[in-house]
Order: sequence, then C-alpha cells, then structure tokens
Amino acid sequence: MLRIDIRDLQRGPVDTMGVLEPGAKALEGLALELEGPVAIDGRLQSSSEGEYLWRGQISATVLGECRRCLAPVRHEVDADVDVLFSRDADATDDPSVYPLSDSATHVDVTDAVREELALAAPTLVLCREDCAGLCPKCGADLNAGPCGCAGSAEPV
Ligand SMILES: [Zn+2]
Ligand SMILES: [Zn+2]
Repeated sequence: MLRIDIRDLQRGPVDTMGVLEPGAKALEGLALELEGPVAIDGRLQSSSEGEYLWRGQISATVLGECRRCLAPVRHEVDADVDVLFSRDADATDDPSVYPLSDSATHVDVTDAVREELALAAPTLVLCREDCAGLCPKCGADLNAGPCGCAGSAEPV
C-alpha cells in the first residue's frame, strides 16, 4: 500500500510496500528509462501534529548510456529515503518536505517516489570505471583496442 489513510497513521506506523510500473502516472515525465517496475518499501509514521515521516526504500533498474563509449548500461538504484509530509505550509520551503493539504485524508508516498528516484539515479554513468571511451577523431570504441589515430589514447 502506498496511499495511507491518515486515520491509520494516528493509530501507529504503517508499512508502505508496493510497486510502480514504468508507465505509472506517478512516474510520468521522469527523465529516466526504467527497466521493470520500481519497488517501494518502508514505513510511514506520524511524527508530530500534521507531520508524517516516511522512511522508505526505493529500488529500480535504470537504463542509461556510458558517458564515454555510449554503450548501454544497466544501473541498480537502491535508495534509502527520509521524507517528511507536512500540513505546515512554511515547512514545505524545504525541498525534502512534501506538502499535504489541510483537507488531505491520505498520505500518498508515490508523490515522493518520483522525485527521490530522480535524485538517486546516477547522473554520470560509466560502463566500467576505466572505460577507454570513443576516439574523438574516428569514433572507434577504444575498449576494443587502439584505433591508430595519433594521440587518441586520452579518454574523453
Ligand atoms: Zn564505456
Ligand atoms: Zn581514432
């Protein structure tokens, strides 16, 4: 369950567990290519009046491109997140605090999953630490060996 009734939270912590398929509405517009669903785990609890703390885990497989040689790279994202949902309009100046309207009856952790996933995803992906990259002159994949251009040994 990813959308938790606030009345349940007043009784005690509630486990948050679920999956979001790549086409899920909550993930729309995310500049990430996902392989398979995003798995969500964790626990949501009331922390103070009108505030709910979510300690969650977000796991997904992101597809990317090696920045040096453009080979496809699969990257596992495993993020532990600490997120606060708050009815306090002032608290939400903090980007890690998600707003709840006064009339909200539920806390939906999927609101946070999208942004936390985007933050956790790697911005610089390499197929391996010592990827040799492509030759800037002829474009040959230098992982396969030298291409013969002079001075092309420098990785991009
Ligand atoms: Zn590479
Ligand atoms: Zn070359």
